[in-house]
Amino acid sequence: MLKRILCTGLLLAVVFPVWVQANYLVTLKEAPIRADSLSSSDVIDRIPGGTNLMLLDESRMYGTGYWKVKLPSGETGFVYKTHVRLKEGVMPGSTGEGAPNGGGLLEVHMINVGQGDAALIICPDGKHQLVIDSGDLNSGFRYPGSGTEFKNYIQSYLNPGDAIEVAIASHPHSDHIGNMKWLVQNYNVLSYVDNGRIYDSGTYRSLEKALTDKGTHRERVTDTVLPDVDFCTRLDVTARVLRPEGFNDPGMDDNDYSVIVRIDYGSSSFLFTGDAEHLMEQRLLDDPSTNGYLDVDWLKVGHHGSHSSSTSEFLRTVTPDIAVISSGGENVYTNKGYLHPRQQTLDSLFMLVGDRTGISTTLEGYDKPNEQWIQTVTKKAVYITNNEGDLVFLTNGSNIWRKGDKISQ
Ligand SMILES: [Zn+2]
Repeated sequence: MLKRILCTGLLLAVVFPVWVQANYLVTLKEAPIRADSLSSSDVIDRIPGGTNLMLLDESRMYGTGYWKVKLPSGETGFVYKTHVRLKEGVMPGSTGEGAPNGGGLLEVHMINVGQGDAALIICPDGKHQLVIDSGDLNSGFRYPGSGTEFKNYIQSYLNPGDAIEVAIASHPHSDHIGNMKWLVQNYNVLSYVDNGRIYDSGTYRSLEKALTDKGTHRERVTDTVLPDVDFCTRLDVTARVLRPEGFNDPGMDDNDYSVIVRIDYGSSSFLFTGDAEHLMEQRLLDDPSTNGYLDVDWLKVGHHGSHSSSTSEFLRTVTPDIAVISSGGENVYTNKGYLHPRQQTLDSLFMLVGDRTGISTTLEGYDKPNEQWIQTVTKKAVYITNNEGDLVFLTNGSNIWRKGDKISQ
């Protein structure tokens, strides 16, 4: 049967060469991609089921049963025959050259702002940015270097006055909006999105004044129409706010009013939960309009890894392959009281996430029952800014990996 396909292909290559070259493969299930046409060669990628792969080398199957293909990332590799089906005709979305999805990598940067949150997300075109939260002020009481870290990081990617498509403040606590005023004043933030709640703090009020003075376009999660946070012009990238029933109910903890954001690129997905705690997690699970968006590959763990977030039910629905916690260490000012992340959160995550590539790492969590910090040596794909520093994750629309690592997921 395989020989017949090969012979037919070669025959038609003579008569109708264009038709044969246009054939492609579709993956039947998650398919390991190898560096060479041997089962002993390294796995360089894993492609989800249902992905179209461009055939290379004149549609020739190697004697070992491997096809040479072009991956969505633009790289080449080899896929084994039982993982794919040969399809005749022009590959959907293919231009005949380059990656079928237009190529490029979506970048997700978690900036090491100590005891706070700050993320910079860059569209695969390299030209459009989304900022979620901005770390804390350079306050000696809270985290001395947070503002400096955030500003230096943003300045290393953007020139003053550059456009930022969307800036989102998950909620108005200072460890999230600490440097939003600076961002608004120094960059052309095209749309500013927040949770729509008025907050009583000097940091919040001076940010509000800066937004008014600058005339920044604003959208709020409490608006009738959900804020448009789709910062990237690419059709294969989407960003959306998840707003479950009861989002604006009075009386919840401030953290539970966090703006929840999901980003998708191809089959790769990311979830940002701000400081949402158990109550908001339950609302996200209960509402059918949000529940279906919770299963993602990459999770920004809620509330700096606190025990007040990340219920086992929530994590079992999200089932992240990679989990990222933004938090300070045990001696970082306010974290002396907060004690983030909690070991029980790390233990819950260890049961769900995949393995990281490369060497093991040592993660530190606070063990509340025994009232002590403990260290765990692990290869699990849980990343903590306190341990790792700035974290950059890349995705080609199929796989997510930490920058500098080989593709592992
Ligand atoms: Zn926080």
